[in-house]
Amino acid sequence: MRKEITRLKKIIKNSNKIVVFSGAGLSTESGIPTYRGAGGLWTKYDPSIYANINYFQQDPSYYWRFFQEIRYPMIKKAKPNNAHLALVQLEKQGKIYRVITQNIDGLHQLAGQSHVIELHGNTRRFFCMNCSKNYSMDDAYSLLKKLFPPRCVCGGILRPDTVFFGEPLKSSELERAVHSAKKCDLFLVVGSSLVVTPAAELPIVAKRYNAKLAIVNIDPTPLDEIADILINEKASKVLSEIIEKTNS
Ligand code: NAD
Repeated sequence: MRKEITRLKKIIKNSNKIVVFSGAGLSTESGIPTYRGAGGLWTKYDPSIYANINYFQQDPSYYWRFFQEIRYPMIKKAKPNNAHLALVQLEKQGKIYRVITQNIDGLHQLAGQSHVIELHGNTRRFFCMNCSKNYSMDDAYSLLKKLFPPRCVCGGILRPDTVFFGEPLKSSELERAVHSAKKCDLFLVVGSSLVVTPAAELPIVAKRYNAKLAIVNIDPTPLDEIADILINEKASKVLSEIIEKTNS
């Protein structure tokens, strides 16, 4: 692995247009669990009830209880970890072109990252399903204590600005992500199982357009075979080492 980290460092040194593609694994060290796998949120909360747009439209109370009891306290407590911070350092070195994230936790931006493409939205933002008025997560939480489920001044029900199951990705974000994958010289996957499409097709697009592909993920992914560099270790450890080495 040490050899692979040194190789990745060299590739990063020679790259000027890196696209980082992050997934839930990047935020586990900030106390936000993945959805799938042991300890994942979906092992306790059925996504067809808690994260499906049709269910939400029929009965939003499940989502809002989940938000009140689980999501809000978890997101309020979470802080960017060393992996998020290392990516900001790479940006300061002029290496990063775009960060494409599947995460909805907003931790890249909280760490200070610019140019973040959020494929699945952001759970810190809410809007009214009737008039589209925007609300912050804290506003939504305060409203919730007075009115369950929370409603806008116009009477419409609030929803998170995230992509529910049963909804397409925002086409503008997906187009920006595909464009970035075509433009980059290194596509760096961090903490993603690469099983959720269409997001997981982006590394293939990048390879087709001659970028190198590096994967930093604890578990195997279906794209390991086409990766130029594969590191099965924790994101914070690998990225912190890369930063130390590129600084030296
Ligand atoms: P996933 O749960 O499918 O896979 C996460 C991967 O991260 C796993 O393969 C695991 O081996 C790896 N991993 C766990 N801890 C790691 C660490 N410390 N370092 C490196 N790798 C680590 O997640 P995904 O690929 O992002 O799947 C996509 C879905 O998960 C998306 O829909 C996304 O919106 C959602 N999601 C987001 C959040 C968040 O906002 N933080 C949390 C959970 C799930």
